[in-house]
Amino acid sequence: MPLYEYVCQRCEQGFELLRPMSRSTQGVACPTCEAPAVRVLSVFAAFATGSNGESTPVAGGGCACASGGACGCAR
Ligand SMILES: [Zn+2]
Repeated sequence: MPLYEYVCQRCEQGFELLRPMSRSTQGVACPTCEAPAVRVLSVFAAFATGSNGESTPVAGGGCACASGGACGCAR
């Protein structure tokens, strides 16, 4: 089961949750205040560190650029 990161919209507390992939887009409640939390993408999933130390976006790392390039990062 994949590990997802969430952040509470009210108290801004971040937390991680193991969830089935089929439920990854469903809303979750903050464990502290029970307000709705939103999913955030892991830095490690979205970026890779090159040999020169620069962090570069990885294709498909949570960006919608594969479906039109509207975000400007399509290469
Ligand atoms: Zn909260």
